[in-house]
Amino acid sequence: MSYCLFCHVSYTDTWSWASLLGLSSAPLLCQPCERKLTLIQGDICRICGRSFSLFPEEYRQGDCCYDCIRWEEDEEWKGVLQQNRSLYVYNDFLKEVIAKIKYRGDAELIKAFYPVAHTNMKSISQNAVIVPIPLSNERQYERGFNQAELFALSMNRNVNLLLNRKTHEEKQSKKTRNERMEKKNNPFVVEEPSKVNGKRIVLVDDVYTTGTTLRYAAKVLIEAKAKNVSSITLAR
Ligand SMILES: [Zn+2]
Ligand SMILES: [Zn+2]
Repeated sequence: MSYCLFCHVSYTDTWSWASLLGLSSAPLLCQPCERKLTLIQGDICRICGRSFSLFPEEYRQGDCCYDCIRWEEDEEWKGVLQQNRSLYVYNDFLKEVIAKIKYRGDAELIKAFYPVAHTNMKSISQNAVIVPIPLSNERQYERGFNQAELFALSMNRNVNLLLNRKTHEEKQSKKTRNERMEKKNNPFVVEEPSKVNGKRIVLVDDVYTTGTTLRYAAKVLIEAKAKNVSSITLAR
């Protein structure tokens, strides 16, 4: 008997055992909950990993979406984030799941995604330095854990806390795009540049929304001479 990590209903499917044994990449959720998730598969944007099937044709050019083309046309941001890959579409159910983790403190729930993340992200996380996006000190203190750090553990035991946030940052969402893009607004600092130099870095976060946070983090890592920077998120 297993208990769904989201709704706590008990279920007896054999596939949950297969998940625990690493034989299946299904999340540790009951089947009705699992069915509300949409795994990102098939045709995706080469850079940000968004699914093209859920996306109007006019917002893509070749194998890239317009958001990514806009980033890549900007000299300052071109190539800073090599690629992002996300597991699931950020739909209403996943929003609920992430809110439960972040705002109701259900840290265990992130483990529901360990088997899926482990299987699907093996190729990009292998031999890379895994760096979770940090929370601000205040947020970390309030919450008691960083969901990105817990999620990163699904890919690699060797999670490196090489980034930190400057204090007194304004909320990114309150700024205009141009304000967000200014270099002086970069909220991140690299803690130990020697551990970054020449390394392939994979950033981990819960959600890719505009890609700004991940690019800021990638920027300071590139400035610390990382070989390249990619990212993995639970949702896109
Ligand atoms: Zn459930
Ligand atoms: Zn894209």
